[in-house]
Amino acid sequence: QVRTRFAPSPTGFIHLGNIRSALYPWAFARANNGVFILRIEDTDQERSTQAAVDVILEGMKWLGLDHDEGPYYQMQRMDRYKEVIAQMLEQGLAYRCYMTQAELDALRERQMAAKQKPRYDGTWRPEPGKVLPPVPDGVQPVIRFKNPIGGSVVWDDKVKGRIEISNDELDDLVIARQDGTPTYNFCVVVDDMDMGITHVIRGDDHVNNTPRQINIFRALGKEPPVYAHLPTVLNEQGEKMSKRNGAKPVTQYRDEGFLADAVVNYLARLGWSHGDDEIFTREQFLQWFDLDHLGKSAGQFDEAKLRWVNAQHLKMTDDARLAPLVAEQLGKRGLQVQPDERLARMVGLFKDRCSTTVEIAEWLAMYFAPVQPAEADLAQHVTDAVRPALAALREKFATIEWNKAAIQQAIKETIAAHGLKMPQLAIPVRVLVCGRAQTPSIDAVLELFDKKIVLERLQR
Ligand code: GLU
Repeated sequence: QVRTRFAPSPTGFIHLGNIRSALYPWAFARANNGVFILRIEDTDQERSTQAAVDVILEGMKWLGLDHDEGPYYQMQRMDRYKEVIAQMLEQGLAYRCYMTQAELDALRERQMAAKQKPRYDGTWRPEPGKVLPPVPDGVQPVIRFKNPIGGSVVWDDKVKGRIEISNDELDDLVIARQDGTPTYNFCVVVDDMDMGITHVIRGDDHVNNTPRQINIFRALGKEPPVYAHLPTVLNEQGEKMSKRNGAKPVTQYRDEGFLADAVVNYLARLGWSHGDDEIFTREQFLQWFDLDHLGKSAGQFDEAKLRWVNAQHLKMTDDARLAPLVAEQLGKRGLQVQPDERLARMVGLFKDRCSTTVEIAEWLAMYFAPVQPAEADLAQHVTDAVRPALAALREKFATIEWNKAAIQQAIKETIAAHGLKMPQLAIPVRVLVCGRAQTPSIDAVLELFDKKIVLERLQR
């Protein structure tokens, strides 16, 4: 059974570039009837915050990236890591190293001076027949993993292809610090092992950790999972996307009126492809997703493109499903509106000219709050010449049954009687009633108003 995981570090508010690393393992699990696990890597206690965890949970929930297991927290698994470390010491897979920081620094300097790559020299590594130095007093040891000597680590990365790293490049990794706390690379292996992860799909900033992790897996007698290292997501300036250079938290896109399905669609395409398909539903994505079509080059975030994708999804989504989202946006403008059938019809009338639900709410506000036509529009369109026609139209409106056909009829009769062209009457009506000179078809727009409000606004 396929088991995948998303393992974020809650050290900053998760942005779209990060959460793409959740989307693919989630999709791979879903597409293969597998299990998707959420693991919070919170061992960096100084930088981890609950607020960051909350944005991860909220963002994933919003995007529908539901997990089957977890969230597990690494801080709650400390006993387990220590247990494995004790076991490794016992089995001779790890050893205590008493080299002090000062000695390590001196070693490093010697190596640098000799133009060698700085690496631990194995002083405390036990070997058959080797005599170790006497254990110094008062030095707390770190614990190091006995990395294999000679040979190489090879894996078939699902994105990058075959990677081979010589063991000579890997020194004996510290797996526990002097205070006994386990180190990051080690915790990841214990977790991936205990959680039965079959496919690790993660950012390629971790690719250098992989050979070390594979060696620890094998030392523990387990076969490592399949690895797929995703290329970075760049921002619009071509830099690595990060909070520091302005990437927004995922949840902000929800607040700005983006649809979860559109964001999933956009992120999916940012590092994976299915032929030339640009716009697809969540269901199609899950049907099509595979690791073979993950892209090798960095994706570049483009907010204008995201808006375009969102606009396409607004068109594809049922008005009744959009209504609650638009009602929420109206609520933020202080307008309490029921997401009923009438609101759905309003959404249907305006959504084609909008790219977010915020924009739809901007349009629909005129139905629920007074409008303030611009002085310039009033001066230009509501002229003395047209006032008699507007008054006549208002009178007609007062008597008709309020539906689109009757509204259209009343307008037609009025322009005929006053010798006007359609826009000469329709534009001033728009300015007075809607507060804007341009709207969709005037009869369709008016029909969705309370007649009383239309008459009041025409009175002006
Ligand atoms: N916690 C790591 C990060 O946020 C991910 C580690 C992993 O996926 O193995 O970058």
